[in-house]
Amino acid sequence: MTHTYDVIVVGSGIAGLSFALKVAEAGQRVAIITKKNSAESNTNYAQGGIAAVTSQTDDVEMHVADTLDAGDGLCDEEAVREILQDGPASIAELMRRGVAFTQLDDGRVSLGKEGGHSKRRILHVQDVTGKAIEQALLHSIATSENIETLEHHFAVELITANKLNKQTPALSETSDRVLGLYALNKQTEQVETFRANAVLLATGGIGQIYEYTTNPSIATGDGIAMAYRAGVEVRNMEFIQFHPTAFYSPEGERFLISEAVRGEGAILRNIQGEAFMARYDARKDLAPRDIVARAIDSEMKKSGSRHVWLDVRSIPLATLHERFPNIYDYCAKQGLQLEKDMIPVVPAAHYLCGGVKTRLSGETDLSGLYACGEVACTGLHGANRLASNSLLEAVVMANRGAAAVVDYLAAGHFDPVELPDWIDGDFRDSDERVVLTHNRDELKRTLWDYVSIVRTTKRLERARTRIQVLEREINEYYWNFKVDEGLLELRNMILVASLVINCALSRKESRGLHCTLDYQGKLETVADTCMRAGHEI
Ligand SMILES: Cc1cc2nc3c(=O)[nH]c(=O)nc-3n(C[C@H](O)[C@H](O)[C@H](O)COP(=O)(O)OP(=O)(O)OC[C@H]3O[C@@H](n4cnc5c(N)ncnc54)[C@H](O)[C@@H]3O)c2cc1C
Repeated sequence: MTHTYDVIVVGSGIAGLSFALKVAEAGQRVAIITKKNSAESNTNYAQGGIAAVTSQTDDVEMHVADTLDAGDGLCDEEAVREILQDGPASIAELMRRGVAFTQLDDGRVSLGKEGGHSKRRILHVQDVTGKAIEQALLHSIATSENIETLEHHFAVELITANKLNKQTPALSETSDRVLGLYALNKQTEQVETFRANAVLLATGGIGQIYEYTTNPSIATGDGIAMAYRAGVEVRNMEFIQFHPTAFYSPEGERFLISEAVRGEGAILRNIQGEAFMARYDARKDLAPRDIVARAIDSEMKKSGSRHVWLDVRSIPLATLHERFPNIYDYCAKQGLQLEKDMIPVVPAAHYLCGGVKTRLSGETDLSGLYACGEVACTGLHGANRLASNSLLEAVVMANRGAAAVVDYLAAGHFDPVELPDWIDGDFRDSDERVVLTHNRDELKRTLWDYVSIVRTTKRLERARTRIQVLEREINEYYWNFKVDEGLLELRNMILVASLVINCALSRKESRGLHCTLDYQGKLETVADTCMRAGHEI
């Protein structure tokens, strides 16, 4: 079955939904393909808020300076300035679409503070900002006639002119461009063909490659894997942000305790009850996340404890109720009374700063293929993301990308191309499927043990050897068996893990989120780590 649209959007988080609305408003027919129900996304779990300059006492140049400082020399300064300058207009647009940011009693918007920000500039909807944004955008999508949302469809592979040329040499396309994609309809279990002259990847992050992560199950790096296999450049994959404070539960779930809680005065204490952050950074508990995560890691290693404590007892109960109702309820369900109990916290994989390389128009280096949100790497975050800059980047880049796609479609003369149907492996199922669960667990543990907060070359090489074995096994499986979601996700996770490891191995310095005991200083020359299938550059 072949479906035809003007534009296909993969992903229904803040980036995909914002982009789809803009492109549809310009008159294009859009399909949103999303692998679970529409709301399931990292966006839906964002708590702290969205950073932008909206107060008279703040200034975009101060936001730029804070972002560059966090990025540790690797940010693209032009990208930082342009994206942050678009911030206030994008916030106004979210408000027009129905996002009701929390207000103070006098009617001004309430602005939170997070680590690394020199000003209060985080707009939020209590501690459920992402959910409020997701719901407002989904509501607008539901009223758009030009958008069709296909839930429970898993994007498998991009179709490009180069790939088709290999199968059908007589094809008239001379230069490479995107022609559409294959997606698995999870209800019918069939892979269907989608034709479009423009595709947006908005598939979010990769947290699921780690054993412990704040990310929901959708975050398996599918968009990055698809782009890489299509020959598109991916960069800076070594920069994984570990959130310092996820709730510690022995069962492994890692509910996020927002940094905004420390912004309101919460203090980290080690297992002996000592407030330790002053020993690591003058900004103490509000130092950037990488510093706080490493400090916690070091305290846990020294004491052998499984967590440290977050002490919120100095925050008035009324503030906790008003500002953090979601966190308060979660802790209460775990049996904690925050007026007297401290919260057990540990770091967990949280955000990917690298990804598919894009320009400030959201274009990748494959014509017709765009990327925005966490899947993309614009140069805004450099070696470390400043808290709450990601929701902002996603919405700003979605708006820029939409304008660029509309221009691309208006300027192009696209001959219709016949797209071949998907050919599946011969075997349907087998007892061997236990391999998938086993290998997924092994991958996640390997990354957690050998490629996490503090790295060494030896551990990275050990991880690479393990991942190569998993890669061989999954490829054998992929070509022989009928595909399903578990197989497709694991194949993508393994590829993305190998990109993380290879980027980490090639960075011979400690910068931002990449900290290695073998190269503790910074190189004088600052460079991105670039990966492209066939020729790592
Ligand atoms: C717990 C938590 C708290 C956070 N708090 C904040 C915060 O306070 N401020 C901030 O700025 N950032 C925060 N972040 C980060 C931020 O939420 C994300 O970076 C941002 O939401 C990413 O948006 P996105 O649209 O790029 O991707 P997502 O919101 O993750 O959406 C990705 C979409 O792609 C779909 N998808 C993926 N693969 C496929 C496939 N193969 N086929 C079809 N569909 C697919 C998914 O189902 C999903 O719909 C937080 C993240 C987490 C996990």
